[in-house]
Amino acid sequence: MHPTLLERLQQQRGYRLTAQRRVVAQVLEGENLHLTADEVLSQAEAMLPEISRATVYSTLQQFVDMGQLLELSLDGRSRRYDPNIDPPHHHLICTECDGVFDVAHNVAAPDAGDGLEIESAQIIYRGRCTDCA
Ligand SMILES: [Zn+2]
Ligand SMILES: [Zn+2]
Repeated sequence: MHPTLLERLQQQRGYRLTAQRRVVAQVLEGENLHLTADEVLSQAEAMLPEISRATVYSTLQQFVDMGQLLELSLDGRSRRYDPNIDPPHHHLICTECDGVFDVAHNVAAPDAGDGLEIESAQIIYRGRCTDCA
């Protein structure tokens, strides 16, 4: 098992895991999670009613900046947050239910040539999930 977001944050030296940051990380525990900021907010509020929208949003941004959380912009939809940074994976959007699913498919980056340097890629597959197939 790869360490979860919460475990990675706990291992981060010098990072103060406040109650609010912890709640945001706890909402993002699990497999195949691709929550929007509003979904994270409503689940965080259920655990810690006094948490504010601004705190949830800035905490998400902070985790992204730390490289601990992936921010996905799939297909011009609202951004989703994915805590599973390792191993790298791609995504399938189900054309029936609109769900977002992880696709474990390691595609080697092409040789970009001309001194271009590829740092990351995001492949979006379209198809049907197990429930809809
Ligand atoms: Zn589906
Ligand atoms: Zn994912």
